[in-house]
Amino acid sequence: MVTITCVRGDITRQHVDAVVNAANSSLLGGGGVDGAIHRAGGPEILNACRDLRAGHYGKGLPTGQAVATTAGRLPARWVIHTVGPRWSNSEDRSALLASCYRESLRVADELGATTVAFPAVSTGIYGWPLDDGARIAVNTVRETETAVREVRFVLFDEAAYAAFAAQQD
Ligand code: ADP
Repeated sequence: MVTITCVRGDITRQHVDAVVNAANSSLLGGGGVDGAIHRAGGPEILNACRDLRAGHYGKGLPTGQAVATTAGRLPARWVIHTVGPRWSNSEDRSALLASCYRESLRVADELGATTVAFPAVSTGIYGWPLDDGARIAVNTVRETETAVREVRFVLFDEAAYAAFAAQQD
């Protein structure tokens, strides 16, 4: 069974096999976690992302999917990039958000990663309400069959930490 933990902190500092990046579909960098990962991990990650764009992901990584690269100078071995959906008031996109967690775990299994750190995908620039984002994240991980032993949710601020911690009660 997968053990779920929630910590407050910076995902770029985590000593795990893989850290998940809340990327955008271009894979070429952005703000929030994405910017932090590229800054801390160095140019190797961006070079690997450019290779993905030159190859299989010519149109970018579709929302809800995940793909791995090197983690460059990060303590982790791999970065798993996933593209969360933007929050919409008119359309239910929760299946796509759940897919980000499920697909990231599937990629982790392919890599042989057994410890994986996730940020709160879509809850920053993409505007997803924290409580709902936390519920989808924790439920999806609980329901996914995976060889990953530890999923660590790494929350950047107190509000995000509280929302995830509440899901564990
Ligand atoms: P998205 O575009 O998917 O919303 P963001 O990167 O804007 O992605 O935000 C996702 C979540 O990650 C937000 O809750 C944000 O506060 C948080 N975050 C930002 N930087 C970091 C970091 N270095 N480590 C962990 N979480 C972070």
